[in-house]
Amino acid sequence: MTTGQGPGPKFAIVGAGPAGFYAAEALDTECPGAEIDIIERLPTPFGLIRAGVAPDHQTTKTIQDAFEQIAQRPNVRIVGNVEVDRDVTIAELAQFYDAVVLASGAPDDAPLDVPGGDLPGVYGAAEFVGWYNAHPDHAGLDPLLDRDSVVVIGNGNVAIDIARILSKSAAELATSDIAAHASERLAQARISDVHIVGRRGPLEAKFTTVELRELGELEEAVAVAESHQIPDAVGSELSPRDRRVKGKNLECFKSFAQTDPSAKARRIRFQFNARPLEVLGNERVEAICFERTRVENGQVAGTGETFEIACGAVISAIGYRARPLGGLAVSATGDRLTNTDGRIAPGLYVVGWLRRGPSGKIGTNRTDAEDVAALIRSELVVGDKPGLAGLKPLLASRNVRTTDYVDWKKIEAAEIAAASGDKPRCKFATMHEMLAVLGA
Ligand code: NAP
Repeated sequence: MTTGQGPGPKFAIVGAGPAGFYAAEALDTECPGAEIDIIERLPTPFGLIRAGVAPDHQTTKTIQDAFEQIAQRPNVRIVGNVEVDRDVTIAELAQFYDAVVLASGAPDDAPLDVPGGDLPGVYGAAEFVGWYNAHPDHAGLDPLLDRDSVVVIGNGNVAIDIARILSKSAAELATSDIAAHASERLAQARISDVHIVGRRGPLEAKFTTVELRELGELEEAVAVAESHQIPDAVGSELSPRDRRVKGKNLECFKSFAQTDPSAKARRIRFQFNARPLEVLGNERVEAICFERTRVENGQVAGTGETFEIACGAVISAIGYRARPLGGLAVSATGDRLTNTDGRIAPGLYVVGWLRRGPSGKIGTNRTDAEDVAALIRSELVVGDKPGLAGLKPLLASRNVRTTDYVDWKKIEAAEIAAASGDKPRCKFATMHEMLAVLGA
């Protein structure tokens, strides 16, 4: 770190989700005396903790308490309701700050690139999860959930979250903070069968065991697997760790294969080795056609055998895509910005999903941020940049009504006050409602 005449370095972090908060914490540790401004598009912080983590996983959401502690440090500020590229450019941020760290995640859905993939009734996980979590971008989704069968494509934890939310009873969701519009729609829906379809086998699935087990413990739904698709044992070629992890998943699938599908009113049905070929329907989704697959040398190969599942909606949980913030180059995989160990250009860095793609647990973003913060410190040249004192007048001149931590606490208090029964909060689903609490 090279310092000039002025006080400590000024950092702008774009995105107030887990990656952004862990970056703030790590930069504060690496560069004591730094001023750290977390710029966020929404008036509310916490990113995927608020709008990605499932509404019935309130324990996971308690990580928010740690981020609140970071937000209350005297040298850390949230600058909310500011959209980079619309209200301020990255180049302008670079004029005000010694380093800019992008932490805005991978918010878009990987496309379901098959014929019929754009029919009404086909949704990506980002928009569907955003809908039931009251994310302002997706609150108006209005999904078609009027048939008894829904297909969820993908074998990751997001697919499990979606299947579980679709299968829980109103009583099971009573202590969640699911969006009011979503709990009403789900209460009216007549979904009896949710199919989770993976293009590989049960041992290649990316589910974690805790999430799988939870599907076996629902009040009104049973988890069902087809016994002929479940192997007897995990392969001896796997590492000891993989054998242990996959072995636990296999125990779940074996027990699901024993389940009586009619034991409860609803079913979550696992279907493996099937890749989507075409979504069928004229005005809307009526069914989806899959091709049977086998896995050869780690690659998915089609067998030519096809089958259909009748359904009223298809939700694809097959990964996410990054947005080319500031016109910056996106990787060939489409799920992150092109970067080297977190560096994009001198003074410009990236952390979290936007750096490494949408993978890992919440805590993975902590080590990720620590690595990038160490890199930033090693390369930092501190000038006498104005930081927020430069940014605020620019935003004011553009009539941007910024929000801060105190504003967030007002919005949160209003959401808690609006909650009924055992709900922890009743989330606002529009920016307008959030800003109205602030008299803006
Ligand atoms: P993920 O774990 O990467 O799973 C994506 C799934 O989509 C894989 O099964 C993948 O299959 C499949 N897929 C990709 N492209 C496909 C295509 N064209 N056709 C059919 N299937 C396709 O991603 P995720 O579920 O979105 O989760 C993202 C991250 O968040 C993960 O790290 C996850 O663990 C984490 N997360 C954690 C929790 C939790 O801990 N409770 C909850 C939600 C999310 P292949 O394997 O064949 O590529």
